[in-house]
Amino acid sequence: MSELKTDAFWMPFTPNRTYKVAPRIVERAEGIYLFEKSGRKIIDATAGLWCSNAGHCRREIAEAIHEQALKLDYSSIFNFGHELSFEYAERLVQYTPDGLNRVFFGNSGSEAVESALKIALQYQRARGKGTRTMFIGREKGYHGVNFGGISVGGIAPNYQTFGQPVKANHMRHTLDIARNAFSKGLPEHGIELAEDLERLVAFHGADQIAAVIVEPFAGAGGVVLPPKGYLQRLREICDKHDLLLIFDEVISGWGRTGSPFASQEFGVTPDMITSAKGITNATVPLGAVFVSDKIYNTVMDAAVEGAVEFYHGYTYSAHPVACAAGMATLDIYEREGLLTRAAGDIGKHWESALHSLADLDNVIDVRNYGLVGAIELRAPDNLKGRFGAKASALAWQAGVMARGIGDALCMSPPLIIEAHEIDDIVDKLRGVISGLE
Ligand code: PLP
Repeated sequence: MSELKTDAFWMPFTPNRTYKVAPRIVERAEGIYLFEKSGRKIIDATAGLWCSNAGHCRREIAEAIHEQALKLDYSSIFNFGHELSFEYAERLVQYTPDGLNRVFFGNSGSEAVESALKIALQYQRARGKGTRTMFIGREKGYHGVNFGGISVGGIAPNYQTFGQPVKANHMRHTLDIARNAFSKGLPEHGIELAEDLERLVAFHGADQIAAVIVEPFAGAGGVVLPPKGYLQRLREICDKHDLLLIFDEVISGWGRTGSPFASQEFGVTPDMITSAKGITNATVPLGAVFVSDKIYNTVMDAAVEGAVEFYHGYTYSAHPVACAAGMATLDIYEREGLLTRAAGDIGKHWESALHSLADLDNVIDVRNYGLVGAIELRAPDNLKGRFGAKASALAWQAGVMARGIGDALCMSPPLIIEAHEIDDIVDKLRGVISGLE
């Protein structure tokens, strides 16, 4: 067979030249496993990119996609509609926190974030507070790659080249290894970091700020969990200053923490939730913003009857095939109890298995919640900030896909994972980490 040509494809978030010297190619996937052409089997300990929550290649979803593509592949979603989009939206809001009963559809996490930021601006304007045009995000926050998302995001290389097109400032992140190393679940220390929001409100003035956006736990920033009480305090400060609170649950949603959404797990209800990834088990791109009735009604009431209330949307909003994939995904989540499975024995097993690596000399922190976790490594000076990538490459050779972020190995296995498979991941990582230098 001819050799694979890799020149034409400009790969995203990848060192193209290094990758193309020795491409790592996945040929197929099944359950929690990825397979190379050689037949070599790799455990997908990251569920793809934190998204294949029900495991790979679920027949039921594939069939729903196939049937929908044969029945209605596409029709305009501006001024016309198809039943499935309404049925799916009604079904989705059965899972969201009380009061978040409206859904705006896009095609990705990035589009969900842009949509949420625009909804926040539209809402502020609709209630006569048009000076509220800026946003508060947080360091280490990841909110996708579009201009709004990189502005509120807190990962420096993602916006340094592109300026900061949307007005935003950032709270401090909550990673504090010195005080919280080897916490199990939510860290004890750091609630006071929420007061950073008060500082930014005092600096900019509440009348300039439309919304605060944070991930309940930061994923792409390296699995940074909220200190106990921190999210509650953010909610209180937002209420005090009349700011909207957006939770970006693109990763933390759909069962990752042991509840459908981290909002429910951590007991804090935002005004909007952004969602994507696990919403369709990553089979067909789909993003969504869950919006409070208060916001929806305010925006509707402010527009004259017959006028478009919100000048925003995508050709593929509520794409029929994505809705069909989403419906079939919900069937699986429900039937297999996946949205709460991480709160049970498997989550406890994950915790103890990850923490069993704490005895290794070069492990300086283990963080976990539900079925997500990170192992922070002691990096040699010449590889600081890049040691995770080295560990990740070696883990791949050992048969585990784990994500290297900074000096950490981050994981979010499919929610169907079994205890012996977790043990297999940890055994393999023990070998990788103890040989690292
Ligand atoms: N928001 C969060 C919290 C994410 O983790 C991601 C992706 O990892 C996004 C937004 C962007 O999603 P997408 O890559 O689908 O645009």
